[in-house]
Amino acid sequence: MTFEKLGLVSPILTAIEALEYTKPTPVQSKVIPLVLEGKDVMATAQTGTGKTAAYALPILQLLSKKEHKEKSKRYIRALILVPTRELASQVGKSIDAYGSELELKSCAVYGGVKFTPQVKKLENGIDILVATPGRLLEHVNQGSVNLSRVEVVVFDEADRILDMGFWAEIENLLTLIPKKRQTLLFSVGLSKSVKRLSELSMKKPLKIEINNQGDLAKKVKQTIYVCDKDKKCALLSFMIGSQNWHQVLVFTKTKQSADEVGSFLEESGLKTLILHGDKTHSARTKALKDFKAGSIRVLVATDIASRGLDIEELPHVINFELPGDAEDYVHRIGRTGRAGKEGEAISLVCKEEKSVLKEIEKILKYGLKVEFFKGFETQEWVEKEAKKNTIKGRIERNKEKQASRPNSIIGMQKRKAKEKKKETKKGKK
Ligand code: AMP
Repeated sequence: MTFEKLGLVSPILTAIEALEYTKPTPVQSKVIPLVLEGKDVMATAQTGTGKTAAYALPILQLLSKKEHKEKSKRYIRALILVPTRELASQVGKSIDAYGSELELKSCAVYGGVKFTPQVKKLENGIDILVATPGRLLEHVNQGSVNLSRVEVVVFDEADRILDMGFWAEIENLLTLIPKKRQTLLFSVGLSKSVKRLSELSMKKPLKIEINNQGDLAKKVKQTIYVCDKDKKCALLSFMIGSQNWHQVLVFTKTKQSADEVGSFLEESGLKTLILHGDKTHSARTKALKDFKAGSIRVLVATDIASRGLDIEELPHVINFELPGDAEDYVHRIGRTGRAGKEGEAISLVCKEEKSVLKEIEKILKYGLKVEFFKGFETQEWVEKEAKKNTIKGRIERNKEKQASRPNSIIGMQKRKAKEKKKETKKGKK
């Protein structure tokens, strides 16, 4: 399949050629023609599969058919709703790149940054708006955004939008957008709330399922190291330092442990930054920028970074703790092995997390091999091994070994005893 065969026009083909995309990804091959036909589409696909281009390219093409005339004011014709600032900024940049040969204008609005510069951009007139729901409503309430002429709405990472508690905002926004429109929904899974959103906002959507979670995760080498909870920090720092890794993304479950792990690594001499929801927008942007540029070795993050973080060829992702929500495991490890490249995801799992590991395996639909990292085996394992090495333990083990050998005296004795037992049984019959 080629992008040309999907029906994309030459200014768009030129832009994607400049990005060195040689062929469409599966989600692009399936979604682009349907969007060009004006259909409502509901697709299960996550970041890393090329889903941004899957909706952005055909939307750009549809809008460019009716490009605005000089002097007439632009109005918002496409609205893309995303859960986080990071994803808003990333999608905004992708749209700029995909539409570089077109006359369309776009803008991304999200919280955590100043309001006024966004208002100025909006006042100049735009065709495509990328937004997080909360900040979008603020603009609506202030009168800087008018959604009454929107033709296409996209819910990008719909499951995460709803998980973040934006139901009320979405319901509110839907009352402000024309009913006659095209709606596209992208989600990793089809939870009850995502289905409810599709019923509320879409007309006979065509359902596209790209990959199950397990297939996606299979692209990444997954390693599980079982270790004691109190040894995790030391293991993490040893693993990174001894193997001389230079761009490592570490996930923690909570902000507090992100802070603790970050400080530990920094004290161990590894240049580290921390990314979580309590950090200011500028600190979050700086952390990402420095990490992408390779000027820090480790980025410790909570799940806000598991989506919308696109770093080319990120080689190592480490789950310091497994995520509370098993589905987030797939998002997290999807930060490595991007766009078909190789990557490794390591999880440090303690006794208390074994049930979460089972949940993850259920989602993946296969089991994960569990290993020990040499020198960081669990206390339980060490004690078991020690028992094996006591004199009594050794005698027992030797006896077992001897018995399993066909010509050993113990083996012969055992076999004879067995045969005798059989014969007595027969005799009794
Ligand atoms: P997304 O799933 O939209 O976040 O995209 C993940 C990454 O894949 C981004 O870095 C895109 O630039 C890249 N990408 C998207 N489509 C293609 C393609 N057809 N060929 C190569 N890379 C792509």
